[in-house]
Amino acid sequence: MKAVQIVKPEQLEIIEVEKPVLDEKNNVLVKMTAAGICGSDVGIYHGTNAAATYPRIIGHEMVGVVAEIGSDVTHVKVGDRVIVNQVTSCGTCYPCRKNRGNVCDHLAARGVHIDGGFREFIAVSESDCYILPDSISDQDAVMIEPTTIAIQSCSRAGLEQDDMLLLYGAGALGSSILRIARQMCDHIIVADIMDDKLEEAKAAGAKYTINTAKESFLEKVLEYTHGRGATVSIDAACVKDSLLNLLKATGNAGRVVTMGFSTAPTEVNQFLITSKELEVRGSRLQNKMFGKAIELIKAGKLDLSGSISHTYPLTKAQEAFDFIDSKDPSIRKIVLTFDF
Ligand code: MN
Repeated sequence: MKAVQIVKPEQLEIIEVEKPVLDEKNNVLVKMTAAGICGSDVGIYHGTNAAATYPRIIGHEMVGVVAEIGSDVTHVKVGDRVIVNQVTSCGTCYPCRKNRGNVCDHLAARGVHIDGGFREFIAVSESDCYILPDSISDQDAVMIEPTTIAIQSCSRAGLEQDDMLLLYGAGALGSSILRIARQMCDHIIVADIMDDKLEEAKAAGAKYTINTAKESFLEKVLEYTHGRGATVSIDAACVKDSLLNLLKATGNAGRVVTMGFSTAPTEVNQFLITSKELEVRGSRLQNKMFGKAIELIKAGKLDLSGSISHTYPLTKAQEAFDFIDSKDPSIRKIVLTFDF
């Protein structure tokens, strides 16, 4: 079968690999039908994702159909359409015992630390398969994975009805978070450097927007929060100065959620955190959020259609990655298909 492997940074190859065989742990064989390309896949390709190891079959937004099951499998059956959990954890370490397997001491994320879904078949445990509702297409369903990341960040943020949320960044991550945050609170400020992204954020329910390239970020945040600063801030821009900016823009007793993978140092002084008794919380991957995302879809509260801008067959992955690098403004989510 064919797979997309990043051999080393900047070297993508379509390789021929053995079709996986079922064993005790990986006892469901999923035939892939759609796989989303994420910013982090692009980061692994370019060698900027610090977590990744090489060579790696990338891809963690994995949708397919169950092709084969082991004898003890009870929750899924052959023919079920499923999305596959990207997080694997050991179940016994300290974070796992605290029910935080997404930061397991032995965390292995599919497509990052272990091989992922840019291949024709993947074998996984049945507990990592989530059955898709009929109402969503395979291609749209790849958006469930970014949605789980968004749900995780809102959960880490402890987002509540009376919060004034500052969402920093209106790109792919920011717009996924906005979609979820919007269901929890009304007072949402979105900051970005692109007017068109800010317009989209407004249309998606942001109450206020700030173009940080044109307006004074801090002044505007204060203006839009009755002079006190945000009660909670989430960094969906993940740039070098995000943390410092959000520490400044968040008011007393607030929470600041980081999601970035940048290892560039930022000068942060303690007083910003101590004086306001801020809580700075990381949000990584997601912790059992697929079920929640699927519940929202079933309840008609989450519409993931309209996010896919382009599709490429798996065998043309290089073209897809080159197109992403072109930064064409029409790019939203790009999906690899398996109909080659
Ligand atoms: Mn992703």
